[in-house]
Amino acid sequence: MTATRIDGKAVAADLRAEIAVKVKAFEKRAKRLPGLTVVLVGEDPASEVYVRNKGIQTREAGMVSNEIKLPGSTSQAELLSVVATLNADPAVDGILVQMPLPKQIDTQAIIEAIDPAKDVDGLHPANAGKLNQGIEALTPCTPLGCMILLEKSGVQVAGANAVVIGRSILVGRPVAALLLAANATVTIAHSRTKDLAAVCRQADIVIAAVGKPELVRGDWIKPGAAVIDVGINRVPGVESGKTRLVGDVHYESAAAVAGVITPVPGGVGPMTIACLLQNTLTAACYREKIDPKSLV
Ligand code: NAP
Repeated sequence: MTATRIDGKAVAADLRAEIAVKVKAFEKRAKRLPGLTVVLVGEDPASEVYVRNKGIQTREAGMVSNEIKLPGSTSQAELLSVVATLNADPAVDGILVQMPLPKQIDTQAIIEAIDPAKDVDGLHPANAGKLNQGIEALTPCTPLGCMILLEKSGVQVAGANAVVIGRSILVGRPVAALLLAANATVTIAHSRTKDLAAVCRQADIVIAAVGKPELVRGDWIKPGAAVIDVGINRVPGVESGKTRLVGDVHYESAAAVAGVITPVPGGVGPMTIACLLQNTLTAACYREKIDPKSLV
């Protein structure tokens, strides 16, 4: 059996097109556009590319995009003051402080300083707490993207055994909460889990968010399971010597057993920015007391 490859690029493009239509409907009702501000501290090349792409896609969806670039030497007090200004700015619906932050800055203090109503990364404890209580809230983008990919692939989540590998606040924990909210029976595995292969073999849905290249092998996968690979790992190319991207799942062996599977690149990755745009529109709707589901 060969798995169906889930085309995250196509699903993300469709989602962005849907959001662009809803942004127009929002503008008609609110008489303004939703606005996202991304704060980048320092000059990490990967973050710069990511922030540039966010800006392009935000503008393409018809929203207002602002970028604030700060030097790598920025102090925590300076960054907190920028966040406070954005919290108070009525034109800003979404604030995203790009991670990782330089060493002198306490990341958790920055996460907690962002107004939960503008927390489009969904990392503030108020939003994470709501998610865990099953209350509607701004939800981290990559986990939202995983759930949309499952839905678009026709995967039955209710009643399924789901194994999430990884327990970060960015991916593992929120995706487990979303799966539970969708009535899956959820196991969260991590670096101390015993016999991870045996745990995975029970899973109808495997979400790998580990950061270990090709850790999950084909013989860990139950025949017909859905495999969502969140991992983005750079490894040396065999022949070229250049680096190449691989996921946390060994694609070829897993695709020979799974029912559906996401590739890396082109699977979960493109969904993250699309979901950031969705969260920005949702945050704008909440602030304007508009039901996001009423936008068509
Ligand atoms: P993270 O914060 O480093 O967390 C990794 C998790 O994996 C931890 O919970 C860790 O367990 C667990 N783990 C590590 N080694 C393990 C092993 N051998 N067996 C089982 N579990 C193990 O990483 P993250 O931020 O969640 O990101 C995970 C991956 O997703 C990375 O490759 C990252 O680049 C990628 N990512 C992709 C996107 C996207 O847009 N596609 C977005 C975010 C992240 P402990 O808790 O016990 O240490």
